[in-house]
Amino acid sequence: AGHVRFEDVRFGYDPDREILKGIDLEVKPGTMVAVVGPSGAGKSTLSRLLFRFYEPTAGRILIDGQDIRRVTQASLRQALGIVPQDSVLFNDTIGYNIGYGRDGAGQDEIEGAAKGAAIHDFIASLPQGYAAQVGERGLKLSGGEKQRVAIARTLLKNPPILIFDEATSALDSRTEAAIQETLRSVAARRTSIVIAHRLSTVIDADQIVVLNEGRVAERGTHAELLRRN
Ligand code: ADP
Ligand code: ADP
Repeated sequence: AGHVRFEDVRFGYDPDREILKGIDLEVKPGTMVAVVGPSGAGKSTLSRLLFRFYEPTAGRILIDGQDIRRVTQASLRQALGIVPQDSVLFNDTIGYNIGYGRDGAGQDEIEGAAKGAAIHDFIASLPQGYAAQVGERGLKLSGGEKQRVAIARTLLKNPPILIFDEATSALDSRTEAAIQETLRSVAARRTSIVIAHRLSTVIDADQIVVLNEGRVAERGTHAELLRRN
């Protein structure tokens, strides 16, 4: 499971201004597709349509072959996990934040979930040893650390489809590079859509789709795009 398809999707927030002008996009199971392009190209709009915050005016979006209009909100939420640009954490422990609202989620429970999600090493690499902070109240984390916690929180839900919506763009460049590395390792072999500004941050995507003014301007691997330009 974890197959996403956009078929000739069109959309505008206002009837007289089309933002997406016929998007075709396929994310095969277990692959990473990056959507890059300048600000205003329509990248976030794509992800909002996938979450059904809005309906396409034409075309359709399929998850595992099913038109998402025929999927319940509950199963859509189960299928999709997003790491947004500015993750908001609860003013609480890392453990609580990773458990995400499951009050009193203990270390055992979280570690069990981490094993299940095959990200145990990642959890163990959390700042200052996550175990030490699990019981501590009051988060004093850097932006990069916060983003790692947010990534872990999303991964622990183990969604078949992961979306990273410019998940590193709010960070300084050194932190960004470190988180990119983390992203690469966790997104590999999972169906994932990585939304990014710059080509340089999505080098190892299986496919890069360049969006410009609501159209797919180019698509290919990083090497193919470099060769053409
Ligand atoms: P990107 O993520 O590539 O920066 P967006 O999808 O956020 O692009 O925006 C694409 C276009 O849609 C922009 O021109 C933006 O101004 C417009 N837009 C985004 N959100 C809204 C909205 N809620 N209402 C009207 N226009 C919007
Ligand atoms: P859940 O109840 O499954 O934990 P959340 O409370 O995390 O869901 O979020 C509510 C819904 O809004 C989810 O489907 C989530 O992925 C989605 N969502 C949150 N932030 C964004 C965003 N920036 N863009 C698109 N969807 C988002």
